[in-house]
Amino acid sequence: MDFSGLNKKTAKSFNDQKALIKKVMSGRPMACPQCGKPLVLHPPGSAQPGIRCAKGCTDIALEFD
Ligand SMILES: [Zn+2]
Repeated sequence: MDFSGLNKKTAKSFNDQKALIKKVMSGRPMACPQCGKPLVLHPPGSAQPGIRCAKGCTDIALEFD
């Protein structure tokens, strides 16, 4: 798995995103930190793999090798 598509502006947000991704991918229900809506995992093989909420304030693109 390649995290290069993530926001690397700060190490903290990068690590936060990585932790969030791991939780969502392990099947834990997680809410968007901004709107509180559930985060949805778009798995590898879908059109745009990533983790997003319904409103789009969380939009983490994932690249899978
Ligand atoms: Zn949101």
